[in-house]
Amino acid sequence: MRVVTRFAPSPTGMLHIGGARTALFNYLFAKRYAGRFLLRIEDTDHERSTPEATAAILDAMSWLGLEPDESPVMQSAQVDRHAEVARAMVARGTAFRCYVSAEDLQARRDLGEAKRLAAREDGLSEADRAALLEDAGKLLAPFRSPWRNGGEPPAPDAPFVVRLRAPDGGDQIVEDGVQGIVKVHASEIDDLVLLRTDGTPTYMLAVVVDDHDMGVTHVIRGDDHLRNTFRQIPIYRAMDWDVPEFAHLPMIHGNDGAKLSKRHGALSTTVYRDLGYLPEGLKAYLLRLGWSHGDQEIFTEDEATKLFDLGGINKAPARLDLEKLGTVNAHFIRAADDDRLFALLIPFLEASGDLDDATRARVRRALPAMKDRGVTLVELAGAFAFMRAVRPLELAKNAKKALSSEGVARLQAFSGELRKLSEWSAASISEAITTYCTATGLSMGQIGPPLRAALTGGLPAPDLAPVMDWLGRDETLGRIEDQIQKCAE
Ligand code: GLU
Repeated sequence: MRVVTRFAPSPTGMLHIGGARTALFNYLFAKRYAGRFLLRIEDTDHERSTPEATAAILDAMSWLGLEPDESPVMQSAQVDRHAEVARAMVARGTAFRCYVSAEDLQARRDLGEAKRLAAREDGLSEADRAALLEDAGKLLAPFRSPWRNGGEPPAPDAPFVVRLRAPDGGDQIVEDGVQGIVKVHASEIDDLVLLRTDGTPTYMLAVVVDDHDMGVTHVIRGDDHLRNTFRQIPIYRAMDWDVPEFAHLPMIHGNDGAKLSKRHGALSTTVYRDLGYLPEGLKAYLLRLGWSHGDQEIFTEDEATKLFDLGGINKAPARLDLEKLGTVNAHFIRAADDDRLFALLIPFLEASGDLDDATRARVRRALPAMKDRGVTLVELAGAFAFMRAVRPLELAKNAKKALSSEGVARLQAFSGELRKLSEWSAASISEAITTYCTATGLSMGQIGPPLRAALTGGLPAPDLAPVMDWLGRDETLGRIEDQIQKCAE
């Protein structure tokens, strides 16, 4: 059997990270078994579905590199097929026309609710209370239609819905790939509606027909759908279709264990892109969020596609930990190819002002040595601030302090040495510093701070020799000269 998985988002909003994780698990499971990963846009809820949301979901999936193996199936395009299956079920006797109107059903529920409340009243005999509760229980129980065994319509053109004839009795069992064996008694399953009075299919029917038609072998989805599985399996059985394997993923909670909300980082996937996370960083984090393999923390995509299995999925809800996401992302920033990282970094650099060609070239040259200076691209772009500072540099408080008249005098002397360098490189600059210190008896602690202050204005920067190398001779000497001039004023 060739594995086929699918991700089936409803385009009613952005792709949040829970959805992204579901997509990722489906993707990895398909790759692991050399199968196919499919995408279905469940857009049958016309009121809540929007083309913008569909586009946003596709954009997020493409950013994450979770490309489906076939073009996406739009569920709304399959409605005729869904209705055809419902009719086939009626013909087989596994579904039936039900003439109970929506109003009657509502009245039944209201009566059940009223009896349930009445049973709480004071002064009832135990027998009356028990009778009320029993009635309420029946009225509020999953609906079994009086037409489930057939019968004449109340009028020749009476409106009807098509309902599934739910299993008569016994336990319904799902062997879930994550949750293990889950049982529900047949009495908990209703004769669910397959086609509404206007002939349109319901979501529950559409999902099953589409999964069957797409050849889906493994349904991996959020555990908020576990209960639906018990209503969906009877539809497969009613059509004599193979029932796929199911695996229901525990929810993602906030770091405090509460339901995930915006406050915890329940942001749309593409917001993580804007915050400067790399797709592979977010994916590697999402993989570990709810799945494990020994105590390994970071997996490349290659490793993940070799190792991913349902057995490694945790049963307990996972907790979103943004700090850990940062650590994982930092790892992937360091591991990223320099040219690619540079291209990804450009928009983040441009967000804080134009990037001239000289600065662009300096950033590119410094990038390999600067990669460990940010857990996100936003932070990494910020780490280049010293390089982008415009002459004469604005000085932070500590930089001003380092540029005392004594400090500037040392700078002046040292800049004379720098000017003499025939070769401008980190190595030759570093050597010049050592020679200068030996000759003058000054320590690095005496020349370093004024030099750093003049070159960076107090902004964070790595070692001074490479910093001067990246800035280049003119910019370096210019920055030093600015401070000498300033002191002389
Ligand atoms: N469309 C459903 C959702 O977005 C998923 C249905 C499924 O995976 O079966 O929650």
